Amino acid sequence: HWHCKKLADSIFIIFNSAVDQGYLCGDYIKFQEAEKMETIYDLIILGAGPAGLAAGLYGGRYRLNTLLVERGQDGGQIAITSDIENYPGQMVEAEESGATLIARMTKQVDKFGVHRVSASIEKVELEGPVKRLTDTKGNVYEGKTVIIATGAHPRPIGCKNEKEFLGRGISFCAPCDANFYEDMEVYVVGGGDSAIEEAIYLTKFARKVTVIHRRDQLRAAQSIQEKAFRNEKLHFMWDSVVDEVRGDGILDVMVVRNVKTGELTQVNADPDDGMFGLFGFIGYLPNTGLLEGTGLAME
Ligand code: NAP
Repeated sequence: HWHCKKLADSIFIIFNSAVDQGYLCGDYIKFQEAEKMETIYDLIILGAGPAGLAAGLYGGRYRLNTLLVERGQDGGQIAITSDIENYPGQMVEAEESGATLIARMTKQVDKFGVHRVSASIEKVELEGPVKRLTDTKGNVYEGKTVIIATGAHPRPIGCKNEKEFLGRGISFCAPCDANFYEDMEVYVVGGGDSAIEEAIYLTKFARKVTVIHRRDQLRAAQSIQEKAFRNEKLHFMWDSVVDEVRGDGILDVMVVRNVKTGELTQVNADPDDGMFGLFGFIGYLPNTGLLEGTGLAME
């Protein structure tokens, strides 16, 4: 219910009198635009995952005029992680998920007066003392310093026809899609912490989960491996990679290659199920595409 009145060029008064409803709306919008353009933040943080939220906490606490930009929900990848048991300071009395952990981080950042905007940045200009970030709606955010905490996205499995089956059998998010495979067969590619933890999670839904790993040893932490080897629903295809996936609209055939012998194995869906799930957890690629061409050195 705030209203704005223009007194002279660049001088506005804002007030919340109910009597003047609708008063000078155009000027209010100009005022908002003027305010947006004139603010040069001390610090702009791109991304509100744990890294961005931690940076926001410090920026706010140092009384820097800080803007935190996030295009989706806070938390990034951890927000879709079902069970957290090794984040320092997390709840131990009750079960902790990514979502519950992040909700507390967000609250902590809010406490220090960090400005927030929901926007998808598509252009970054880093030359000069004032950096300019432009979002997909053309809004410009200016800051003296930019912290890039844009996270990463899952590395594709790299098999033939992969794109065709995204969301039709292939997934990169167990908590999002596990329930589609209730009492079905599921395959998980990878041998790291993510693959094995998510494979264990998937055994709560699927009747059988098979890990396909390119070596004959897991990379996952010993404690996670121990849990996995105790789980009767978990099986392993060692020294193997997925070459190809097929199906008529949904995934029901996969060709797996043994990297030592070259032997090809065709995996078919159980006819009663009509399909199976294939989850990829083979690492992440940084979300740095936005920064290409900005002069920043890329590894
Ligand atoms: P990661 O540790 O890099 O493991 C990636 C796995 O995918 C490895 O087993 C790797 O095989 C395999 N791989 C990589 N490229 C492949 C390809 N092109 N084809 C087939 N397989 C491929 O990744 P992550 O599991 O996502 O973990 C990332 C980081 O987060 C790690 O530091 C991890 O410890 C941490 N993390 C921790 C937790 C936890 O503490 N609870 C949970 C999740 C992740 P090789 O083993 O042969 O290299």
